[in-house]
Amino acid sequence: MKLLLKRHEMFMVPLKDLVIFPRMVVPFFVGRRRSVRGVEEAARMGRPLFLVAQKKNAVEDPGEHDVHTVGTIARILQMMKLPDGKIRLLVEGLDRAVIGRYTETKECFRVIVRPMAPAREVTPQISALMRTVLTQFTQFNEIARKVAPEAVTAVESADVPDVLVDLVAGNLPLKLEQKLELLSLENTAARLERCAAIIASEIELMSLEQEITGKVRRKLEKTQKDYFLNEQMKEIQKELGAEGDDPTGARELEEKLKAKDLPLEVADKCQKELKRLGRMQPMSPESALLRTYLEWIVDLPWKEATPDNKDIERARQILDEDHYDLKKVKERILDFIAVRQLKSRVKGPILCFIGPPGTGKTSLGRSVARSLGRSFVRVSLGGVRDEAEIRGHRKTYVGALPGKIVQSMRKAGSRNPVFLLDEIDKMSSDWRGDPASALLEVLDPEQNHAFMDHYLEVSYDLSDVMFITTANSAHNIPYPLRDRMEIIEISGYTEFEKENIADKFLVPKQIQENGLEWADITFQKSAFHKLIRGYTMEAGVRNLEREIANILRKIAREAVKEGMSPLSAQASAPSEPSSIAVPASAETESFATATVESALPADAASPELPTAVAPTSRHKVVVNGKAVEKYLGKEKFLEDTFSQDMKPGLAYGLAWTELGGQLLPVEVAIVVGKGEVTLTGSLGDVMKESAQAALTFLRAHHEKLRIPATFTKERDIHVHVPEGAIPKDGPSAGITLTAALFSAVSGVPVTTGFAMTGEITLTGRLLPIGGVKEKVLAAHRYKMTHILLPRRNEKDLEEIPAEVMQALTFHFADSVLDALAVLFPDRSFAEPSPLAASPGIVDALRRPEPAERTLVDTALDQPIV
Ligand code: ADP
Repeated sequence: MKLLLKRHEMFMVPLKDLVIFPRMVVPFFVGRRRSVRGVEEAARMGRPLFLVAQKKNAVEDPGEHDVHTVGTIARILQMMKLPDGKIRLLVEGLDRAVIGRYTETKECFRVIVRPMAPAREVTPQISALMRTVLTQFTQFNEIARKVAPEAVTAVESADVPDVLVDLVAGNLPLKLEQKLELLSLENTAARLERCAAIIASEIELMSLEQEITGKVRRKLEKTQKDYFLNEQMKEIQKELGAEGDDPTGARELEEKLKAKDLPLEVADKCQKELKRLGRMQPMSPESALLRTYLEWIVDLPWKEATPDNKDIERARQILDEDHYDLKKVKERILDFIAVRQLKSRVKGPILCFIGPPGTGKTSLGRSVARSLGRSFVRVSLGGVRDEAEIRGHRKTYVGALPGKIVQSMRKAGSRNPVFLLDEIDKMSSDWRGDPASALLEVLDPEQNHAFMDHYLEVSYDLSDVMFITTANSAHNIPYPLRDRMEIIEISGYTEFEKENIADKFLVPKQIQENGLEWADITFQKSAFHKLIRGYTMEAGVRNLEREIANILRKIAREAVKEGMSPLSAQASAPSEPSSIAVPASAETESFATATVESALPADAASPELPTAVAPTSRHKVVVNGKAVEKYLGKEKFLEDTFSQDMKPGLAYGLAWTELGGQLLPVEVAIVVGKGEVTLTGSLGDVMKESAQAALTFLRAHHEKLRIPATFTKERDIHVHVPEGAIPKDGPSAGITLTAALFSAVSGVPVTTGFAMTGEITLTGRLLPIGGVKEKVLAAHRYKMTHILLPRRNEKDLEEIPAEVMQALTFHFADSVLDALAVLFPDRSFAEPSPLAASPGIVDALRRPEPAERTLVDTALDQPIV
């Protein structure tokens, strides 16, 4: 050092990309002419070198201004000349120094330098800074782990502040500028501070870097893991025999879709979805959903259609084969077929069959399909209250499916089926939307060529479908729907019709359904009578069919019990019972039975057999009235309970219900009281008002009717309509209420066998009512003999079957007075006559005290039916 100070002059070597700090031992090559020369001279003289960084690496031949001013004095430790003229040098840094001036630059660089001596004094501030630097160095090393252990020990043991900075800067992987900065700063405290700042930012950068690297690694690991698992799964699928090269099934679906003639919109949509499916993981839930969706599209009939039967005669035959009578409906269907013959594309008519249950509405729909040669589907709308049931759910919902319409179209397999919408009047709506509005889109010919199902997301053409709807009552069909339908009413059947239906259709059908075609089963007239009157008081034939099925099941059971079967019947049929030997086998058992039973009187000759079952060789069974009772137990409805034994205060009305026409008994009792009127039997408002009107009418016309004006004084009137659990309403009970009230007041019973219906007004007019056919059929069913109707309903009798017209005597009236004259023929209403002339309550009313007792007794002692 002293030598340097003395001489002040040194050989300088400019360094590229390298900063050497004191106490660092560094190897490097020297190749440039002036540098080589300088090194050689220094080595020869045994002098240290001055190493200083170049400002720009690219400069090959640097001048005075191309190097920094601060550098390091270094001792040559090793020097080796290489064959190419370069020198490999190992040096050790000694001290920092600043260039004073250049003394030589041509042959080599010689400079006079001023050494920067390290500060010896350690102030508390410097001590604190040293500690900070040391801590940060340790922290950095913990994260980076890039410093050699000897260097770490050297740093940790450094007690001179400048030495500490030199060691730290020399050993850390800092940028060249940072190193240069730390080398050049003169002030020790500033060096320490800067050193701390640089390490701090490096630590921060490194933590960030590590964090990012960690994330990237994790991501990479996951991708690798997924890839690995997928590969494994493919292998497993291969092992399981699942489609190896088409794991998502996209290709198979594409082929199926190509084979189908899809509308353009649908084909486009499918292409998009197929692409999406191809990109999905085969086992993911999304791909399963998409596959299901595409399968729905594949399965739907987009262009497939069945050819229509255009042969009217054939269609008529089929309709007649399936259903008895129902002329009007059959005619309408034949009309439709005729129009089809003239014009190939007819917008499907929407027929609506309205009638009581069991009148063949549903089965007629099936028959229409058969006669047209179309496929048949049926959807029951009873209880449907959610629009999604019609239109489906969006396919993003879990478990989503198309609505009932599209589901049924898939079932139909053709785009032109007969589509039966059953019980359209039983739909309701709530917060889940209005199914009726969705149905409107289905049924409206203007809209249904582009029906939108939420699940399909593409429109579906329903315009070729023939829709048939059924309902029990037109009132409950939402108006916009009713407006688009052609209503065909199917009223209940008469007893005669029921008998025919049972004989020609229900019995053969049920025999087949119960596997009894091989047996010889005959139902006699008496059986039908009994079934219709005693077991099934209904407008249609549903219960009749059920009871027939019931009987046949019992017969089947008997046959099985007796060892009868189709086989045994075949074997035995042609032979004569007597000629058969009796070996002990299943077949022979049947013969045995047959032989024994055939000893009984033959059935055909005696229609009313005492026994129900009279098997012969073909297991012959004849079902008559008695047999019905044997199979089904006691009758449920007793015949003639209604019309007989008329008491004062009782009248039979006729009501229209969704189940067909009904007999509606009305009872009135008058008892001692305070003039109150009580109405019981679950009556609706309109019926209550009718009762009030009837009462007022009687009071207003008491003179003509020859009843006392004071009949309500000190008396309570109780009007009761039995079967209280069933709500009743409607104005058509007006005349019945009047008749019952009058009968109670006058004490005269209504003529036996009379049923009546009609709305009344306060002035005594009798207004027409609806549902005449149903009501007349009900009167006939309940064995009434006379029927009273408003005159203006006379025209409605056209559709009444002849046998009903014959069985009933019809009476028509314009006014309530006329009606009462018919119902109470023994009383004359023309002239007010002395009250004494009329018997019953009128008499009682005239008498003072005891009379009231009689009245009460009359009313109470004569319970009505
Ligand atoms: P709805 O739909 O009107 O309630 P269904 O169509 O279910 O009645 O009919 C009930 C049963 O009665 C079916 O087996 C049907 O074949 C039979 N049926 C009803 N009317 C007739 C008829 N006119 N001719 C033959 N069978 C009939």
